[in-house]
Amino acid sequence: MSHIYTVVRCPRCGKPVPWNETQRFRPFCSERCRLIDLGSWANEDYAIPGEPIDPAEPSEDRNGAEGPPTD
Ligand SMILES: [Zn+2]
Repeated sequence: MSHIYTVVRCPRCGKPVPWNETQRFRPFCSERCRLIDLGSWANEDYAIPGEPIDPAEPSEDRNGAEGPPTD
């Protein structure tokens, strides 16, 4: 009964990851999962101010720029 070791689950894909020295990216199973998780974290919680995306773009601009010829 000496085979007790800690296993965690990769927060990204849920793959079991042995918690030991060889797992460089723990608690993630791989560098990829770690980077993906860090990336999503950065995108969601670390909003970078600069270019706010406004889905409700005013349509008046379009009408003025290229409206259908009515003549
Ligand atoms: Zn993973």
